[in-house]
Amino acid sequence: MRERFVRFMAGRYGGNDLLNKTLLVVTFILLIAQIFVPNNTIASLVLSTICWALIIFYTFRMLSKNTYKRSMENYKFHNFVQKTKRMAKGYQDMFNQRKTHKFFRCPGCKNILRVPKGKGKIKVHCRQCGHSFDART
Ligand SMILES: [Zn+2]
Repeated sequence: MRERFVRFMAGRYGGNDLLNKTLLVVTFILLIAQIFVPNNTIASLVLSTICWALIIFYTFRMLSKNTYKRSMENYKFHNFVQKTKRMAKGYQDMFNQRKTHKFFRCPGCKNILRVPKGKGKIKVHCRQCGHSFDART
């Protein structure tokens, strides 16, 4: 029996990457959320549809023989998570420095610029694209 399972899984992707672990956790959370949603409502229908979709996607990835494509999915997901974490950290830093600094978005390149507060009207210069603009701090 065990040997048959090993032979069945040979050449298949398996379920042990970041994307699949996340899919499992999200499915689990949604299943728990379903307990608190009344039955036979649109919300419960949407929830259970999402749960099924996630379970099917999880199983598909686990049994897939296209391991290259599955690892690329995981790689992209990993990059997305890192980018989101960096963005959250950026907003947290902005929040923590809100009393001492003022933040502007560069009209040229959309980069976030930080200037000390309480300097009156100043010219802000973007180091990334060279754009300058007036701002009040
Ligand atoms: Zn700029």
